[in-house]
Formats: sequence, structure tokens, C-alpha cells
Amino acid sequence: MEKYDVIVIGGGVVGTAVLRSLSAYKAKVLLLEKSSDVASGASRANSGIVHAGYDAEPGTKKAYFNVKGAATFPSLTRELHVPYKMTGSLVAAREGGLPALEELKRRADLNGVKAEILPAEKVRALEPNISREILYALYAPEAGVVSPYKLTIAQADHAVVNGAEIRLEEKVVALSKRGDEFFVRTDRGEYAASYVVNAAGAGAAEVNGLIGEEAPVETHAVGDYYILDSTAAGIVNTVVFPLPDEKGKGILVAPTADGNVILGPTSRKVPHDEAERCEVTPEGLALVREGVLRLIPSVDLRKVIRVYAGTRTAVGGDFIIEESTRFPRYFMLLGICSPGLTSAPAIGEYVAGEAAASLGLEKKQSMLPLPHKFRLSEASAEEIRGKVLSDPSFGRIVCRCEKVTEGEILAAIRSPLPARTVDAVKRRVRAGMGRCQGGFCRPRVMEILSRELGVPLSEIRLGDAGSEIAPYEVKQNYGKI
Ligand SMILES: Cc1cc2nc3c(=O)[nH]c(=O)nc-3n(C[C@H](O)[C@H](O)[C@H](O)COP(=O)(O)OP(=O)(O)OC[C@H]3O[C@@H](n4cnc5c(N)ncnc54)[C@H](O)[C@@H]3O)c2cc1C
Repeated sequence: MEKYDVIVIGGGVVGTAVLRSLSAYKAKVLLLEKSSDVASGASRANSGIVHAGYDAEPGTKKAYFNVKGAATFPSLTRELHVPYKMTGSLVAAREGGLPALEELKRRADLNGVKAEILPAEKVRALEPNISREILYALYAPEAGVVSPYKLTIAQADHAVVNGAEIRLEEKVVALSKRGDEFFVRTDRGEYAASYVVNAAGAGAAEVNGLIGEEAPVETHAVGDYYILDSTAAGIVNTVVFPLPDEKGKGILVAPTADGNVILGPTSRKVPHDEAERCEVTPEGLALVREGVLRLIPSVDLRKVIRVYAGTRTAVGGDFIIEESTRFPRYFMLLGICSPGLTSAPAIGEYVAGEAAASLGLEKKQSMLPLPHKFRLSEASAEEIRGKVLSDPSFGRIVCRCEKVTEGEILAAIRSPLPARTVDAVKRRVRAGMGRCQGGFCRPRVMEILSRELGVPLSEIRLGDAGSEIAPYEVKQNYGKI
């Protein structure tokens, strides 16, 4: 049985942040993820907002990690080559909404976050398309947008470059502690560890139950979204929120870090067994349309290219970020709902520090950098010429909408954490994320995966097990169906 210093359970933005921070220490560390890729839970399907930190109740863990995490984004995203823009955000209020904005401003001041209340004309100078009914807004200049799955993947890649291990498609099914040692059993193998971090998101309470730790009551709320084509970019410049209510921060309109526009989310309570399925509903999408048109009436819904949904998992009002008292060296991260994406880098650093202090781990002198990958869509004509001359696969466009080349797809398949499925390729290089949503490029991506992985086309999957895209040859089954 292989023995590790630390095992992290769950490959979302939080688990990979912990792993990356741990890889800065001289330690043997492993992350176990039950899906076919990291960023398969809430970290795949959220708003991608780097919240400034005015919303969280002062004195809470949410406020502390939000503010600390947000401050790391400019340098972290540069270091990991992840799309991020500091766009600023507005919380827009109608008549009668000023007291609520003043409360948010009070929280901003207490949390140490830059924010000011703007009158209508200044709001319109920032957002010319905002509803005429908006009379004031709280402006937070340091809010931003990031690609949540690219951040998760980049953290995972960076951890692997620095010696960490990641095992995908291994669900933790048993967890016990004997003496000072933890035993972590998955559906494929068993491992020992001196320290365990439970970062299993919607599965974290279940993992607590495996070891016999208290499993707090969770609530799950699905958020429905629309994504607009990049030709809609410019309809808003900042992240535009309505006033928050008891359900959350409300239905927003925002640019995405990759150049699209995002509309949503709703907040529909669902039972635990529906939390991971998270499907959009017509009713949910109708609520998004209604909410969005109240903020930005000229949004062109004909530009929708995709709908999706994600599930927030909460336990009470705050994050649970603590070591178990019953099982020392078992660290719990539960109820990491919004602003969990923003908080993740700070949570990662904190948890790694706790584990290192407990185990007496020594910090490495430096970390190896994550190499930058060539992107045709971002390169100059000069750079493209040089790249294509050295490797002609960078001259073969596979995804026309997003201008992704075969060379970029090959680089994704050969990444530190390799892409093994069509969705994993898509999240790394955007092949299939454009207007045609993979109509042209999916068969080509499948062929490239098949060739590179040395498996037949019939075994190429969209994502998790059972999602084979072309499991039969048509003629082989002719007459049998
Ligand atoms: C609709 C919505 C909008 C949001 N918007 C924002 C936002 O704009 N800004 C912001 O800061 N935050 C936002 N959030 C919150 C943010 O997305 C989450 O806080 C964050 O993604 C949580 O990350 P995580 O790693 O804890 O969980 P997850 O991403 O869910 O990762 C947990 C992982 O654990 C794996 N797992 C579970 N059980 C097991 C097991 N037994 N064995 C192995 N692996 C297991 C899962 O497969 C999953 O990959 C939003 C969330 C939602 C849903």
C-alpha cells in the first residue's frame, strides 16, 4: 500500500488549491478525484466572479478568505496563465434600495474592501445599457472575472509539475484511522496517509460520515445560466448584480474572462440526491431571463449559445474550515459555497500551512513554474509564423469558432494532468466552446484523442464513464436495432 504525507480528497478549485500549496513543501502528496477530470463539481459550473468581499458578514471565515483570496488573483492568474480580468462590479439598486447599498458599504468598510455608492449618472457612465430604473449602485473596482475550470486545471497542473500526484476516477469509499495513520480506500485501491484533507464539495459530508466524524446538515441550491456568444461582449463592462436577497447574490449579467457574456444564476433548492445532477429547468431559465431584463433590458437572448447549471452546497451561514478534534490531522472543508472560488487560493495556502506545521514539513526553496502554452487566438502574426514553422500541427485549425489548433489539443493531451476526454480537452483549450458548440470540431477532437491515447474511437468519452460518444459502428449494428 502506497504511503503519503497528505491525501486530499476532491479535485475542485479548493482541493487543487490545497494540493498546489502543499507541493511547495518537501512532501509526498496525492489528490483523489472520483470524476474523469478535476473541476467536475461546483468549480466547473459557477459565475466565475472574483468577489471583492463586501457581501460577506464581517468577522466570518467567508469574509476573511474572500478578501485574502481576491487579493491573490492578479499575480496567481499571471503565474498560472489563467484568463482573469479586474472588471469591477456594481450592485444596482432601484428606488428604495439605498439603505441596502449602505449596509453593503458598511460591510465593505469593515472587511477592508474598496467600494463606493455611485449616483445614476456615474452608474450609466460605467454601464450605458443599464435599466433607467437603476438609481444607485455600489461600485467595487477590485472585483473581477476568472475562468473557474481553467484555474482549477492550472492549479492541478502546477502541483503535478512540482511533484504532487493526482488520481482521477477514484472515488473514496472508506476512510479510517488506526494509530497515527489514515487508510483511504477508493473503488480502485488503498492508500495510507499521515494527514487527510476532505475537500469533496457536495460529497464532503458523506466523506465525514466514512470516518465517523459529524456530518452537518447540507442544503443544495441549483443555479441556472445562459452563456451568450462573444459577439454579445460589450453589453456590460463590469459584473452587474441586483441587490442581494435571502437566496443569495441574485441574477447577474457579466463578461466572462474568455470573452462571452454570462446571465444567471437562479437559486433553486434541491434534495441531496439531485445536487450532483444539476440540470437546468425551463422555469429556472425563465427566472434568469426575467432577472436579466430588469437589469439590462437590451440583452439579446438570440445570442445564447449554451445553458448550464451548477449546485452550491452550504452548511449553515459560514464555511467550515477546521481540523477535526476527534480525528487529529483530518482536516475538513465543508459548505464551501460562494465565495468559494474567490477564497480557494487563500484556503489552499492556509490548509497546506496547517498540514505542514502539524507534520513538520520543510518548504522547498522555490517552486518550478508552470510553462506557458501557445494559444493561436492570443498570438501575434510573428509568433504564429515561428510556431507553425517549428511544428506544423499549430497551423492546423480544428475548432474554427475559437481558433484552436491541433497543436494546442495535443499539448492539452500531453499536459502534466493529461486531458483524456472531449470535455477535458474543451475546458483546457476551448475547442467546442464557441458558437457551433463542437458541431464542426468534436469528431476531429475525438480522432486526435483516439490516435494519441491509442484507443479505438468507440472508447472516446465526453466525460465520465458511460459517456462514450460513438460506441457502435453504424453498419455493424445495421439490422440489429
Ligand atoms: C451556481 C454557482 C455560482 C457560484 N458563483 C461563484 C462566484 O461567482 N464566485 C465565487 O467565488 N464562488 C462562486 N461559487 C462557489 C464556488 O463555485 C464553490 O465554492 C467552489 O467551486 C467549491 O469548490 P470545491 O473544490 O469545494 O467543490 P467542487 O468543485 O464541487 O469539488 C469537489 C470535488 O470532490 C469530488 N468528490 C466528491 N466526493 C468524492 C469522493 N468520495 N471521492 C473523491 N472525490 C470526490 C467531486 O467529484 C468534485 O470534483 C458558485 C457556486 C455555484 C454552484
